[in-house]
Amino acid sequence: MKLFLFNTMSRRKEEFIPIAPPKVGMYCCGPTVYNYAHIGNLRTYIFEDILRRTLEFNGYQVLHVMNITDVGHMTTDADAGDDKMEVAARRENRSPWEIARFYEAAFFKDTERLNILRPHITPRATEHIPEMIALIQRLEAAGYTYRTKEGVYFDTSKCPDYGKLARLDLSSQRTARPEVVEDETKRNPSDFMLWFTNKPNHIMQWESPWGRGYPGWHIECSAMSMKYLGEEFDIHCGGVDHIPVHHTNEIAQSECATGHTFVHYWLHGEFLLMNREKISKSKGGSINTLQSLIDEGYDPLVYRYFCLQAHYRAELNFSLEALDAARSGLRRIYSLRPDDDPLRNDEAAFEEAKQRVHEAINDDLGIPEAVGLLNTYDSYRLWTTFDAILGLKIAERAQRGEEELPEEVKQLIEQRNAARREKRWAESDAIRAKLIAMGYEVGDGPQGTTVRKRPV
Ligand SMILES: [Zn+2]
Repeated sequence: MKLFLFNTMSRRKEEFIPIAPPKVGMYCCGPTVYNYAHIGNLRTYIFEDILRRTLEFNGYQVLHVMNITDVGHMTTDADAGDDKMEVAARRENRSPWEIARFYEAAFFKDTERLNILRPHITPRATEHIPEMIALIQRLEAAGYTYRTKEGVYFDTSKCPDYGKLARLDLSSQRTARPEVVEDETKRNPSDFMLWFTNKPNHIMQWESPWGRGYPGWHIECSAMSMKYLGEEFDIHCGGVDHIPVHHTNEIAQSECATGHTFVHYWLHGEFLLMNREKISKSKGGSINTLQSLIDEGYDPLVYRYFCLQAHYRAELNFSLEALDAARSGLRRIYSLRPDDDPLRNDEAAFEEAKQRVHEAINDDLGIPEAVGLLNTYDSYRLWTTFDAILGLKIAERAQRGEEELPEEVKQLIEQRNAARREKRWAESDAIRAKLIAMGYEVGDGPQGTTVRKRPV
């Protein structure tokens, strides 16, 4: 079956044809590890995970590379401000290296809890400084750079199709970008730093042909993606916020260095919109990280399922009401059983349904349509087949309800049955509340209390 993906470069859906099938090279811009990941950023990683799983479902062998930015990402996406790592180091009174390792581990803990497959290679920027220097030297030799006292700039006026991804109008850029504090040594407003040299207070510094300093954020992704995927590869993804500056600059420096196309398909995930007023946690603080959702009693997979309700190229409004609705939907999916599957004994009907869901997904990751179809068929086998893409752990969670109950729970059930027989309602209610707090669903059936582990 053909797979279609929306390519930001052409602004249309294109049939996906890899360079060397069945292999697919896929690069995703990773986190800047200066803080806990925001749930809006995690939405982007869920979209990229769905993309990878869809490619694998279609029989491709994906090599998934995602970098760790642990130096050089300034507080604006352009060159102004401070390095985010150094700001965090001052805030927490730790070294930028400690900050980087701590938040990198926190990031992978979050993605694991969201059942996001770990990329095959996760290169750190600080461990690829020689590759970055070599790439800057290559650009320098070809005449695309100039030096000022601040560092080495990429000269965008030398790159004839600069800005093609974002369809930038460079004439209007000369007056735009008011947030950027311009460096007067820069020749064109869109020029960007490849190597910073004049930052004496920056803790992370390396020797280079241009003096001690550190790399710009954009050169990191070009150097690391080309190292692991080759100088021309299939798919590059990120959030839509990367289009105008970061990916634009990655394309310029990569294609000027190599003289050919850098990436064939550019895919971008849309924003998660938070309410203007902050959504508060019941115990204070606001909801913006995965842990803050867990603290409010949400299973991470509820957040994953919530993200699957919207197409990746559509904005998604975050609210606790919408999250509650996703939880109800997910509980219903987890309550399906193979024994009462309407497609259980009808192979032709199953194959037809599978074809329809697969077509929906292969149409530029039409996950909301696919989920709609799956909800209509209500088939355990169909849900578990496509769980290879959805990543909701359906088989595992559905079994949770069938597990043997621990001795303590069995005793509580007996105590509650006795309390109900003797009409001690307060005690019966207290035991019920205790079981719910322990993560069980409690019902009152003809045989007394029924209890099963809540799947989500
Ligand atoms: Zn990047």
